[in-house]
Order: sequence, then C-alpha cells, then structure tokens
Amino acid sequence: MINTQQFTQEKYQIAAIYILLCPPQDRKYWIVQLWGRFNIPKHRFILWLALQGRLRTREKSHRFVIIDCPNCLLCNNGLEIINHLCFECSKTKQCVMEISHWLGWGGQATTELNRVSKWINRTKTCRFSRKVMVAGLASLVYHVWKTRNELIWQAKEPNWVNLTARIKENVKQMVVFVWPKKVSQKDEIWFNNL
Ligand SMILES: [Zn+2]
Repeated sequence: MINTQQFTQEKYQIAAIYILLCPPQDRKYWIVQLWGRFNIPKHRFILWLALQGRLRTREKSHRFVIIDCPNCLLCNNGLEIINHLCFECSKTKQCVMEISHWLGWGGQATTELNRVSKWINRTKTCRFSRKVMVAGLASLVYHVWKTRNELIWQAKEPNWVNLTARIKENVKQMVVFVWPKKVSQKDEIWFNNL
C-alpha cells in the first residue's frame, strides 16, 4: 500500500526542486500538467522526457552510430523519432485514437504529442477532466515506450488490446486512489461512465 501522506509530500518536494532548478523562461505550460496528482510518477517522468524530445529513440542512437538501423520496430515503417512513436506510427496511432475517444480529447490533435498536450491545456472543460486526460496521456506515452523497449530488449511482441485496457485501468485506479475532496456531481458521473 502507498502511504498517501508520504506520497503527497514527496511529490511536492520533487516539484519544488524542479521549479528551483528550472529557470522561469524554460518553464512550459505542461509543467503544471506534469505535476497533476492523478499522474503516476513513472508515467510523469517518461512524459516529461518525451515532451522535451529527450527519449533515446533509435534515430538518435543511429546518429551516434550505436545501432545500424534507425527505423521503428513497432511498424517497420519510418524513422523512430519521438513524433513517430507519439503517435504517427500506425500501431501507436490506434492506441491514441482509442484513448482520445475514451477521454474525449480533440479529434484533430490526436496524432502529435505536443498538440495533444496543448489541446488538453486549452480546452474549456473543467480542471478535473483535464487532469484525468493528462493522466491518460502520460500513461499512454509510458506504455508505448515500455512496449517498444520490451520488443527491442526482450523480443516481446506487443499486445495492443491489452495495452489500452491497462492504460484505462491505471488511470481509473490512480484517480480513485487520490480522489479530490471536491468533485462536482457532473464530473463524478463523467468519470464513473469512463
Ligand atoms: Zn512505427
């Protein structure tokens, strides 16, 4: 079991350190999204790397002559850069479409990570549902990266149906675990119908 008090304190300690280390001009709108309390810490970390373009993709490894082929192994069709993984790849695109339909984020914004993140940031919907959407996005990026790593390092074939089911389950469990004191009846009904 997670100690809620310890978990909350740790979260804010890390956030405070990050804000101290990060100069104001480098603070992006998604910093607020990242520290939403519905985000699982390891999901938050991978989303943070992805939004900054810091995930070590095959295209990067190829540039540094670490590997011979820069292509995406999930679809074998295209350079493995962050925009491809999130979510131009034919495999991950199916996942983002399903999660976006599930949580109701904007149709046009669904194939590029930064556009999805911006769309969630600007949408007029309430804070609660925005935070649930970010948790869904963070979980999606984490699971795409994990699936890609398992394929590369363990030759484990992806199971995309299980993946989206796990993302939904993760998000629901985390939100229930840290359920806010004040949630409107409308938001509660929306969440319970997910
Ligand atoms: Zn691909």
